[in-house]
Amino acid sequence: MTVPDTLDTDELHDKRQAVVDTGVAMLEQGLTKGTGGNVSGRVGDEYVAVSPSGIPYEEIESGDVPLVDLDASVVDGELDPSAETPMHTAVYRQRDDVGGIIHTHSPYASTFASLSEPIEASHYLIAYAGDKVPVAPYETYGTEELGAVAADTLGEAYNACLLENHGVLTVGETIEGAFETALMVEYCARIHYQARAIGEPTILPDEEVDRLVDRFAGYRTH
Ligand code: 13P
Ligand code: ZN
Repeated sequence: MTVPDTLDTDELHDKRQAVVDTGVAMLEQGLTKGTGGNVSGRVGDEYVAVSPSGIPYEEIESGDVPLVDLDASVVDGELDPSAETPMHTAVYRQRDDVGGIIHTHSPYASTFASLSEPIEASHYLIAYAGDKVPVAPYETYGTEELGAVAADTLGEAYNACLLENHGVLTVGETIEGAFETALMVEYCARIHYQARAIGEPTILPDEEVDRLVDRFAGYRTH
């Protein structure tokens, strides 16, 4: 297996390093436990650097990060790519605007995933994800079916969805953007949970959330 010569090797190196750094950050920020979750970044138009399966984040080196094509076949790397590679590639195939994808098991958002309840707009930062964080119906981890329901639930509009009884998927123009959205989704989930624990949160009206989504499109740098 060799890296296709059409690929920019500096870009490949940078994306592999971003996958490594974001995996460690995901752990440090409490967005996952152990080897749960995964990270990927688009390289060129047709390839994806994706975290290896089941390797502790702090042990992954950039040269270890597998490179796959948009059908999830390995193009370069010795390690098995993430079990969720079919979910990542399904989203890249559907969304040209997406350059980075993060899957987490972050605890507050996963609580709503286990209730099969979308995270509603009780905090304005929900607009990082869309007008809410919708729920993709349960499918077994690592399957094409999970990829299909996740891509379908994200559609063209959402930057995040919950995976029922499992966790969270976020997307961005870059890996860093997808990571920021993963942090915001967990924060909004926590606020929504806390508000529900002591009262009934007010939900922002649709037209205000639409305005926020537009404003955030201009506010975000990645
Ligand atoms: P990988 O270690 O294969 O990426 O799997 C972790 C996970 O979260 C599966 O959903
Ligand atoms: Zn998972």
